[in-house]
Amino acid sequence: MKLTIKILVGLLLGAIVGLILHITAPDLFTGFDTYLFSPLGTLFLNLIKMLVVPIVFFSITLGTASLGNPRKLGRIGGKTLAFFLATTTVAITIALALAYLFKPGNAGIDPTGAEFESTKAPSVVDTFTSIIPTNPIQSMVEGNMLQIIAFSIFVGFALAMLGKKTEGILKLVEQGNEIMMFLVNLIMRFAPYGAFGLLASAIGRMGIDGMKAMISYMAVVFIALIIHAIVTYGSAVYALGKMNPITFFKGFFPAMTVAFSTSSSSSTLPISMKMAQENLKVPKPISSFVQPLGATINMDGTAIMQGVATIFIAQVYNTDLSFTQLVMVVLTAVLASIGTAGVPGVGLIMLAMVLQQVDLPVEGIALIIGIDRILDMTRTAVNITGDAACAVVVAESEKKHSKESTVEV
Ligand code: ASP
Repeated sequence: MKLTIKILVGLLLGAIVGLILHITAPDLFTGFDTYLFSPLGTLFLNLIKMLVVPIVFFSITLGTASLGNPRKLGRIGGKTLAFFLATTTVAITIALALAYLFKPGNAGIDPTGAEFESTKAPSVVDTFTSIIPTNPIQSMVEGNMLQIIAFSIFVGFALAMLGKKTEGILKLVEQGNEIMMFLVNLIMRFAPYGAFGLLASAIGRMGIDGMKAMISYMAVVFIALIIHAIVTYGSAVYALGKMNPITFFKGFFPAMTVAFSTSSSSSTLPISMKMAQENLKVPKPISSFVQPLGATINMDGTAIMQGVATIFIAQVYNTDLSFTQLVMVVLTAVLASIGTAGVPGVGLIMLAMVLQQVDLPVEGIALIIGIDRILDMTRTAVNITGDAACAVVVAESEKKHSKESTVEV
């Protein structure tokens, strides 16, 4: 817990220093940012990113191998996906309801001059077929998470099936995993300084003026994120995971602070897994399977932003959405959040897909791009909390099957 406090102090100091410099000495800020804040932040980000590809490969392979038989794998996979889909749908529904209630886009915002270049969102079929990599090494080089996950599941499955024959490789993967976890511990000591640098840089650039006009939009996203985290995850963890929600949030909090400072679910993965395994007592095979998958496809916070943003943009452009269109928003936002990579800012780009689906102007994204950084930080914290909640729930539900045969790891 001491580390959490240090990270929080780092975040707070970063925000204060960034803000003071932004207001009093913008020139000085640029110097500090170039030679101190950004390098500190980048160093920390690089350190954790360095571990992501090997961790995803080792942990999913190991997780799959230790889940053992295909029945168990299918059962856990099914439960995980069901949880992800259900919570994401709840998330976006909360977002839409709040956006209708508070009408953030009716505050007299002028959309003229808004310009945004949309990148073409990939089709649903392409997204599915490209999950299987044609060259797994290339997927690792490019950091294509979904492909690495697919490959690792295959390898893990083979290890489980081959049993004794491939003991050596299993041991290798297991030890590889140990090395990565050791490095996570080491790198986390640097987290408070990294958090300081990242926040000072972000707040120093943005200031608070830029946020004022968008305050109602931001407030609605924040409220939706908080409700979803506390009510949806809190009750899931309590009712299905048989865990006190306070224990859950307290135990997972350090990972949330790292997600907040990095705005990246993927980068935070090593820490999220460590917190779930050590503080929430999620068995390694389950955490190793659920969390990397979740960090890649389960983004409730992102879905919330996309839901509020869609209604916000519709309101700014005076467009009414029909009920069918709202259902389309829910469906596409679920898909868009699945397709969103766990790196900073992608959620906003995938929003283009949702807007196009219901014929809203994609330029509307320009209105919210300026303040997206702070929302990105917050929604990323929610994104990874959803994965941890799922891991807790799946772990509890697997207890009754615990006597089933598994490969020992
Ligand atoms: N930054 C988010 C994440 O990594 C994704 C997004 O919404 O942009 O979880």
